[in-house]
Amino acid sequence: DPSKKNYHPIKDAFWNHGQLTPYCALTKTLLCIEEISGRLRMIEILANYFRSVIVLNPNDLLPSVYLCLNKVVPDYMGLELGIAETSLLKAIVQTTGRSMAQVKSDVIKTGDLGIVAEKSKSNQKTMFKPARLTVKSVFEKLKDIAGMTGHAILTKKLDKIQSMFIACQDSEARFLIRSLAGKLRIGLAEQSALQALGLACTLTPPPQDFPPKLLNVANNMSEEKFKKLYDSNSLIIKTTYCESPNLDMIIPIILEVGVSELPNKCKLTPGVPLKPMLAHPTKGVQEVLNRFDGLKFTCEWKYDGERAQIHLTEDGNIYIYSRNQENNTSKYPDIINRLDSVKGPNVKSFVMDSEAVAWDREKKKILPFQILSTRKRKNANEEDIKVQVCVYMFDLLYLNGESLVKRPFCERRKLLQENFIEVEEQFLFATSLDTTTMEEVQDFLEESIKGNCEGLMVKTLEEEATYEIAKRSRNWLKLKKDYLDGIGDTIDLVVLGGYLGRGKRTGTYGGFLLACYDPDSDEYQSICKIGTGFSDEDLQKHTDFFKNHVIENPKSYYRFDQSHEPDHWFETVQVWEIKCADLSLSPVHRAAIGIVDPEKGISLRFPRFLRVRDDKSIEQSTSAQQIAELYFNQAQIINQGSINPNRE
Ligand code: ATP
Repeated sequence: DPSKKNYHPIKDAFWNHGQLTPYCALTKTLLCIEEISGRLRMIEILANYFRSVIVLNPNDLLPSVYLCLNKVVPDYMGLELGIAETSLLKAIVQTTGRSMAQVKSDVIKTGDLGIVAEKSKSNQKTMFKPARLTVKSVFEKLKDIAGMTGHAILTKKLDKIQSMFIACQDSEARFLIRSLAGKLRIGLAEQSALQALGLACTLTPPPQDFPPKLLNVANNMSEEKFKKLYDSNSLIIKTTYCESPNLDMIIPIILEVGVSELPNKCKLTPGVPLKPMLAHPTKGVQEVLNRFDGLKFTCEWKYDGERAQIHLTEDGNIYIYSRNQENNTSKYPDIINRLDSVKGPNVKSFVMDSEAVAWDREKKKILPFQILSTRKRKNANEEDIKVQVCVYMFDLLYLNGESLVKRPFCERRKLLQENFIEVEEQFLFATSLDTTTMEEVQDFLEESIKGNCEGLMVKTLEEEATYEIAKRSRNWLKLKKDYLDGIGDTIDLVVLGGYLGRGKRTGTYGGFLLACYDPDSDEYQSICKIGTGFSDEDLQKHTDFFKNHVIENPKSYYRFDQSHEPDHWFETVQVWEIKCADLSLSPVHRAAIGIVDPEKGISLRFPRFLRVRDDKSIEQSTSAQQIAELYFNQAQIINQGSINPNRE
């Protein structure tokens, strides 16, 4: 029982040293996690399971962590589970002998294919017991299934699924089917799973011999010392994962030499995308100047396209990754073909940060993001490309075998400009201005808008000017013209449910319930109802999309007030970019509850839909903490008198 206090990684595990970890050891752990809601307890429980694996069969740590994250390879390799529900229904029907009608009706009742699978199995009498599933075998089969391509794969996939499903007992069926469907639904965020790995490796540090020397480090240490070590280990794991989001590299190193060696052994590598640095929103030039008081900084145009992290490896391979580490290489053959003329003669390998922007060749001007988004997403042919792009280079993170992220921006920018050559209308350096005066920043902002940009990115040059991987850093501020009178930025929210439309909108949804994500509690907290900003076409599109994601009941990790219950609840599958007039305290909405006020949340006033954010995952939507910051920021502004607090 991994939820036991003072867990003993050997005595409290029901399998033996050297034995392959039974799959049910993992699924029982996931079940415990599903049944509780506190994030810290979830982490402890998962860590206990990891500790047993570290001691009893460390080779199973890698597949265990992958299965907890419901991945089979790093995200950027683009191999995903996510088998269609109809195929999974077929597998359940064929292996349990139940009728399709019965199974379907159960799915409608419970809203969860995993639970239906488990129940269907438990009612089934079997003549003989097949061999128990192991973590290793399930992981390998899932990976096979995700990687199958070519003719007649559906039958092959179904065969594999059925061979596993037949052997499932108890909770194994629930989690196997959920894994296959693409979502574990236990409310365990990626960061929490990494934190659990940090806790496990602190309590029971690898490498371990058998019998182990150290089963519980906390017993030999003051609480304070333990906490410090735990914080440091978790930070190392999380930071390394941002720099090199590849568990196949990270876990073997941890097992071989321990967490503390990770930063020396696992580094930024061309070919492996890193999580990008992000910016803080600001509401005006004055705020920028206040924050950067005494620091040297530069202003760059903020282009409205798609972030492109361009990699060249030592052996000549080129990759382009999105803001979200998705592999966009096959989307941009045009960029790839131009690289030879852009990189200088001494460049052997690099990682560059840039923005790909739609470009009008006739009028010689930047086109809006919407035009770029009409490009084919995968396997584009250069001859068929209609929307031209211009790449605006703004940072260099790696050059010829050396990581530059710890160097100040002025040096990185110099290296970028020395080693790359601009090509008119194809590859240009971001337009920039190094200044310190309010008037010049203001004028430059106006110019950027005239140049079809969103505003400015303002970046420190010398002090506090490292590239902060995966961080929303104070070293980068964004200044968007549109929102100077609003709240400083748009907000990216998760859609939780839909309200059926009336009148003109009958037949589609007429409004939606939106939420922000709180990574600390792993909750989706309601923030507003939205019904504005949609064209009829948008509403039809959203209705068609969410039709496939309706669930019977809200998840335990949705926080909302009964008075806002939508007609249909959705799975959390899409992020929308929203503009609003301001943020206010709300007795009914739950966003950032406990941060700004113990009982009240925050809601958005006059929210308007702008667009779907396909480049953001659900966990990357605006966080509760960010909502609180926007709220506080605005309160400061109200005090300065530039927003009228009496406005209704
Ligand atoms: P966030 O990433 O902050 O949650 P977002 O994805 O909505 O928000 P913005 O905050 O609007 O993006 O702006 C940051 C993005 O702006 C970067 O991810 C990058 O794609 C783009 N960008 C355009 N020009 C620049 C530039 N000169 N420097 C850095 N980023 C730029």
